[in-house]
Amino acid sequence: MHPIKERALRELQERIDNSPEKIDNWKLYAGSPMYFYCKLCEGTIVVPENWITKNDYCEPCTMIKEFGFLNDDEEIGPIDIGVINKPKELEK
Ligand SMILES: [Zn+2]
Repeated sequence: MHPIKERALRELQERIDNSPEKIDNWKLYAGSPMYFYCKLCEGTIVVPENWITKNDYCEPCTMIKEFGFLNDDEEIGPIDIGVINKPKELEK
């Protein structure tokens, strides 16, 4: 496995293992930033209350997506997604 890919996936696994406690946006005061969670690692994504667009993925996971680390990739080779223990609720 390519070292950059290996490191990115190891860090992804660490983020999944240490995913933060969820914050219920409805309990926050008006004007508070909104909290969302990365679709891949469940990391926190904070956006202003008046957000228009937001990312579905946190920054490092966006990179993982852009590099195609989770896809079949001829250059780097398909990754064994089995090595990543996704939280149960993320499985479809
Ligand atoms: Zn993420």
